[in-house]
Amino acid sequence: MNEKFRDSIGTINEEGKRAWVFPKKPSGIFYKYRKWVSYFLLVFLFVSPFLRINGNQFLLFNVLERKFSIFGFPFWPQDFHIFVIMMIIGVVFTVLFTVAFGRIFCGWMCPQTIFLEMVFRRIEYWIEGDRGKQMKLANQAWNAEKIRKRVLKWIIFFLISFLIANVFLAYLIGGDRLIQEILDGPHNHLSTLISLSIFTGIFYFVFAWFREQVCIIACPYGRLQGVLLDNKSIIVAYDHKRGEREEGRTILKKGEDREALGKGDCVDCSLCVKVCPTGIDIRNGTQLECINCTACIDACDSIMESVDLPKGLISYNSEDNIERKIKFSFSPRLKGYAAVLFILTGVLVGMLFLRNSVETNILRLPGQLFEHKENNIISNVYTFKLVNKTSEDIEKVRFELTSHEGTIKLVSHDEFTVPAQGLSEGTLFIEIKASLLKEDKERISIDVFSGDVIIETTSTSFLGPRSYR
Ligand code: SF4
Ligand code: SF4
Repeated sequence: MNEKFRDSIGTINEEGKRAWVFPKKPSGIFYKYRKWVSYFLLVFLFVSPFLRINGNQFLLFNVLERKFSIFGFPFWPQDFHIFVIMMIIGVVFTVLFTVAFGRIFCGWMCPQTIFLEMVFRRIEYWIEGDRGKQMKLANQAWNAEKIRKRVLKWIIFFLISFLIANVFLAYLIGGDRLIQEILDGPHNHLSTLISLSIFTGIFYFVFAWFREQVCIIACPYGRLQGVLLDNKSIIVAYDHKRGEREEGRTILKKGEDREALGKGDCVDCSLCVKVCPTGIDIRNGTQLECINCTACIDACDSIMESVDLPKGLISYNSEDNIERKIKFSFSPRLKGYAAVLFILTGVLVGMLFLRNSVETNILRLPGQLFEHKENNIISNVYTFKLVNKTSEDIEKVRFELTSHEGTIKLVSHDEFTVPAQGLSEGTLFIEIKASLLKEDKERISIDVFSGDVIIETTSTSFLGPRSYR
């Protein structure tokens, strides 16, 4: 096979300039299913930052204030280990999925594809028409029709980019806060206005100009494909055995028996190339540019139907199945990934169950030793930090020493309230009779109460004089 196509990419011409892709509007059963999936995902994307579960935002990624909420479960920096495990599971799951099913995520679920193919391109088809009309418009001089269509398209693209920027910001700073800041007026929240303007500009640039190049040039996941795919992976593939046969692909001649003549089933109509949003020819084999969008499957099936040949010349298939008719099976590599995924998921579930909704840290004040007080009482000074991960205030909080007989004295108050999703900090003294200390440094246990209910048990160290060892 001539591999020259691998020396260039479909979106850059021989002079190194941008070759604009004008994909033909897809239609067919896969496109229909993809539209339904995209409607669901678009609703999910737009609603998630404004949905609340038990008072927590459904999805929140407030990096600056280090507040995270995933499916309504709040995560604090103290839960970072859980976050890391979730990220690792995400990576292993993606790898496993890619090894088995190629870039199915790109074609069906990636927000870039969803917005570009299911929102922006459909608006383009509506305003400028299908591939032929778009090419004609691009090549014609700037007359009234071109100015009207282009300006209308750019205004709509800009408005949608602005909308996406708002939703994106809601994921970062919180949906309620965004709405409040909009109601307060942008002049009162200049930093939010600047962020919105930058995000709008980026989204407009991506969807109006950069487009499929995100998948071809910028996306690291696409680059990973080369190392993850093998001959067993199910990908959008052209059945070259059937499409080419001994005589190769040729244009259809009326009444010919192509099989008897040794001609392939591909009638060289190029429809699969014309519908491709990344501008490639799937008949050249697996390519990094292919986002598995299935548009070429639909296109080829419609041609096969019209020339009375079986559908599936382009389909979800593996190289092994095309070459040697070996059906999909779980390879040792897949089994290994699945085992790792299973173990990590078990660890995550365990961590989620063991995760406290309150986190207490009591640490001795740095640089301080101990104080010898009247009646042989030894006193240590501590700072404490109590994080409330729940969406309700924790009231009447107090500490009780459980490992030793002694007292805990809070500076400035006896009991306090930890606000919902907030933290309380302060200083406290722990006093223990010297005769009760066996070591010069001992672990002590402390129960944290809310009213009469123990909400957490924690421990810290206590220093005493050596003479009592
Ligand atoms: S759409 Fe099908 S028949 Fe037409 S060129 Fe592509 S593979 Fe061949
Ligand atoms: S080759 Fe087919 S599946 Fe791949 S991006 Fe092009 S149209 Fe989509």
